[in-house]
Amino acid sequence: MSEESTPVTHPFLDLAPLSAARFASIEDRVARLLDTRQDVVIMQGEALLPLEGAIRATAGPGTTALNVITGPYGQTFGDWLRDCGARVIDLAVPFHTAVTAAQIREALAEHPEIDFVSLVHAEAATGNTNPVAEIGEVVREHGALFYLDAVASIGAEPVLPDAWGVDLCVIGAQKAMGGPAGVSAVSVSERAWARMSANPKAPRRSYLSLLDWKQRWIDGGRKTLLHAPAQLEMLALEACVERIETEGLTTVMARHAFAASATRAGVLALGGGLEPYVYDATQAAPVATTLRVPPGVVASELVTRALESDPALPLAAGGGALAKEMIRVNHYGGDATVDVVRACLTALGTALAEKGLTVDPAGARRGAEAAWR
Ligand SMILES: *Cc1c(COP(=O)(O)O)cnc(C)c1O
Repeated sequence: MSEESTPVTHPFLDLAPLSAARFASIEDRVARLLDTRQDVVIMQGEALLPLEGAIRATAGPGTTALNVITGPYGQTFGDWLRDCGARVIDLAVPFHTAVTAAQIREALAEHPEIDFVSLVHAEAATGNTNPVAEIGEVVREHGALFYLDAVASIGAEPVLPDAWGVDLCVIGAQKAMGGPAGVSAVSVSERAWARMSANPKAPRRSYLSLLDWKQRWIDGGRKTLLHAPAQLEMLALEACVERIETEGLTTVMARHAFAASATRAGVLALGGGLEPYVYDATQAAPVATTLRVPPGVVASELVTRALESDPALPLAAGGGALAKEMIRVNHYGGDATVDVVRACLTALGTALAEKGLTVDPAGARRGAEAAWR
């Protein structure tokens, strides 16, 4: 016991607890990002936590839900809704398209009893984006509660819950915000709080509970946290919102839009049979560009080959059944640059050429650069 031993210091370790005031200030910054006056609750978990929590709090046996399916997340929401005892009317559109406000209007007219609408804004998994502003008008006119998954759109395109009449708007930082995956947020309208309070089956005294945050955090003036917050993730969320504020949200969104249109233009010029998965450019999400591979090419193999030249490229094969036919070029946060787009096109071009397909990599780069301007 003669020498004193001291642990090595590490930036992730021995963190001071995050204060309630700091936590509240991060919530306020997220609210500004969403341009909302609704309550914003930051949840201590990946976005699936508020996505599930919001459905279990507001849907029950008396609910008739219109569940719009434009990708894999819509399917999950339908399962949760059914599990809560809601009657679910699924409105599915092919994954390479977006849903239209007219389709929503038609469904609501056919089933006037619908009192809940769930929608995914942008789908990173399929690369489409839905016209939420127009849909919001239709939903508001009908009077249903409007639940929106904006995880893949926040930071890449406008997300405006107040202007669009969204009652529950869920975001996560891990896509276009370039932030951590371990925390998420949901904006909650007065109408949504009222629906939860009236729902005897809404989670209470539970990690899934939004009402706990309402009653024990918001109504108490945000003085006492429910439990120790995840400091690392909260600090990373604060840093990522700060970075967006510094660059300017409009600039960040423009960068994502440019990355998507440059990728699209580059792929069309590249040739080799590769084509945009979402045919209509107005329905393509700025957060990720999905591509369809030509017959005889397996998407996951092409991606593996392309990543051998540069493992850091934001390329992925589609999930599940789409792994054979779909390639995703993600434009998340710092990856939404012309350099990254160019590098992705080059890597994909090289991999296609190895398969014996005729490609024009120089044309692809020129196409991408022209679209960026
Ligand atoms: C990415 C994403 C989420 C978050 O889910 P992960 O499984 O963690 O990726 C939720 N909704 C949508 C639409 C997403 O794109």
